[in-house]
Amino acid sequence: MKARKVLQIVFALDFAAWAHSTQRRKGGAHEPYVNHLTEVARLVAQATGGKDEKLIIAALLHDVLEDQSMNVSYVMLVENFGKRVARIVREVTDDKSLPKAERKRMQVVHAPHLSRRAKILKIADKAANLNSILQSPPRDWSATRKREYFAWAAEVVGGCRGVNDWIEAVFDERLSLGQF
Ligand code: ZN
Repeated sequence: MKARKVLQIVFALDFAAWAHSTQRRKGGAHEPYVNHLTEVARLVAQATGGKDEKLIIAALLHDVLEDQSMNVSYVMLVENFGKRVARIVREVTDDKSLPKAERKRMQVVHAPHLSRRAKILKIADKAANLNSILQSPPRDWSATRKREYFAWAAEVVGGCRGVNDWIEAVFDERLSLGQF
């Protein structure tokens, strides 16, 4: 891999760790948020044989626009990581002005219209979230809530299929483990 690409990936990792430094996952173990980002980045890296550094960078940054605490903007992403990375991140970012239920519904509606890279990232994100619920579920989540999350994630991923067999297989395997 070219030195420039390695530098960009490490810079993105450092940026993401900073942007999410005050956040923890909502799972029972309250893992540092950055663990979610590195898992998603690892999944898209494996899915693309390590060949798509823009997608790896977007995976590391995929939640920065939704996190309000550091006020990271789209323009800031363009300046630091370029337009292509910033666009992928924006594609997978929910509209925070909408109520939660509506945001979840919009993910289902938007999924089929995402770019190929954003679809791979979306599937990896959902696969990581299923794993979190399986390994370290939020303490206050009932079996019904977990079932509903799995069903919703399957719906979103259903709109993203046909882009990468490997990541789809990872998602399907985790989905099959969700017997709540
Ligand atoms: Zn995520």
